[in-house]
Amino acid sequence: MNEIDWSNLSFGYIKTDFNVRCHYKDGAWGDLEVTDSESINLHMAATCLHYGQEVFEGLKAFRGKDGKIRIFRLEENAKRMQSSCDGILMAKLPVEKFSEACIKAVKMNERFIPPYESGSSLYIRPLLIGTSAQVGVSPAKEYTFLVFVTPVGPYFKGGFQTSPVAILRQYDRAAPLGTGIYKVGGNYAASLVAGDKAHSLGYAAVLYLDAREKKYIDECGPANFFAIKNNCYITPKSSSILPSITNNSLMKLAEDMGMKVERRQVAEEELATFEEAGQCGTAAVISPISKVDDLDENKSYLIAKDGKPGPVCTKLYNKLRGIQYGDEPDTYGWVTVVD
Ligand SMILES: *Cc1c(COP(=O)(O)O)cnc(C)c1O
Repeated sequence: MNEIDWSNLSFGYIKTDFNVRCHYKDGAWGDLEVTDSESINLHMAATCLHYGQEVFEGLKAFRGKDGKIRIFRLEENAKRMQSSCDGILMAKLPVEKFSEACIKAVKMNERFIPPYESGSSLYIRPLLIGTSAQVGVSPAKEYTFLVFVTPVGPYFKGGFQTSPVAILRQYDRAAPLGTGIYKVGGNYAASLVAGDKAHSLGYAAVLYLDAREKKYIDECGPANFFAIKNNCYITPKSSSILPSITNNSLMKLAEDMGMKVERRQVAEEELATFEEAGQCGTAAVISPISKVDDLDENKSYLIAKDGKPGPVCTKLYNKLRGIQYGDEPDTYGWVTVVD
């Protein structure tokens, strides 16, 4: 293997040694299989290709100062994948099998886990697809689960910083009673045009409003939205938001820090009152928001007055990262130590 520059990795794909797979056939999951192949042999009529029967997860393993490897909230990711499977009628992988596969993939690629000092981590990507041949619209009878890992760099290369987001009213990511609450590839395909437009205009992400009324904040493309006001952690409640495990963790930590936590509808106008706001998700933990521009309505909400991450975002970010790397006690049992 060529020397990897651990501190300068991007959020891309680097080939590792092995991936772990499991097949569902005749109503049952088989044994875990390990392979060094980066390809899958797929029937051209597989349901994942035509009708989008695909769900995925994203989680990370961290190398601690103590040398130990920690996977963050493994079981929660397993459960969310099951919920996504229920959402688009796919065979569910048992939680234990999901966990076993992720741990195996991490252990077998141990040499790709970045050192503690780099601030990098090992990204774990589990995915599940419908594989049996079908032309009529109905769920597959056979499925493949696969987990691969790839080292990824620290999200903030020049230190923790803010970025702007845009409201683009001509686009919806998900319908109020649609698949927004499931981690399915189709939601991402549906968000690419708006995301590309936002990026080309210099924004880090699209901040979606609720599709029905265009009044309430939903989430930021691939990350949840939260805000801080009057010692309160506020995050939108909606039927089209993906339940972020990072957001769930931050709510607990905010409570621990003596803050009130509110999960409720958040009207766009309330942006004018927030002291801090951020996107949250596995990739960055927190990406603080500098301002929100509602481009169609010609409105702009300045959140970070000095352009810097606020004290609450910074504290929450450091605390969660501390737990992930093993620098802070794991009070809630969020961490699986791999040995
Ligand atoms: C994965 C994802 C998130 C973030 O979830 P985490 O569990 O925190 O990584 C947020 N929104 C969407 C749409 C997602 O797919």
